Amino acid sequence: MKNIVIYGAPAAGKGSICEKLVEKYKYNHISTGNLFRNLDDSTEFNRKIHETIAKGNLVDDETTSKLVQNHLETLDNNPIVLDGFPRNLNQAKILDTFFDNYIVINIEVSEMVALERALGRVTCSKCGKIYNKYSESMKPLKEGICDVCGGDLVGRSDDNEESFKTRYNIYMNNVESLLNYYSEKNLLFIINSDQKSPNEIFEEIEKVIK
Ligand SMILES: [Zn+2]
Repeated sequence: MKNIVIYGAPAAGKGSICEKLVEKYKYNHISTGNLFRNLDDSTEFNRKIHETIAKGNLVDDETTSKLVQNHLETLDNNPIVLDGFPRNLNQAKILDTFFDNYIVINIEVSEMVALERALGRVTCSKCGKIYNKYSESMKPLKEGICDVCGGDLVGRSDDNEESFKTRYNIYMNNVESLLNYYSEKNLLFIINSDQKSPNEIFEEIEKVIK
């Protein structure tokens, strides 16, 4: 199995792909969001990061990269999926100094489809199961009711059209230079998720990581 750096726009389906990689192929899923959240206070390095975040400042690229590098050194030999890192060209160049032998996967989704997915997403208020009222393969049998437990299905409050479009466009602008960088290095695989179910997307991923 190949090491992966994964990108995907909001609602592209990146989260469920990472879950499947961990479940089926025992990938080490490295999300910088999680690394920052789960940081202990055991070293001066960690304490400095805590201070920076507590002050509301951004952690600089060198420190973020060092955090990832430190974490990679603690891992077993299972393959790695990096998620949320590198976030910019500078981080990508630093990553290349300590991590090699990887491919880059970008899960593409058009703005229209992403919007539909995000706004159609509903969650069972009792058991947490996720549905999508606009997706044939993910909609509940009876509108507004959970198939499993009969609980009420509710939408996410932050998923309105305006805020979603803003998130989507910020993401697309930020990722462009990274995708160019990896495309020039011949490391980039693009998978379009518009007309595909999560399982179909995963089957395409399996073809490129083996
Ligand atoms: Zn339920």
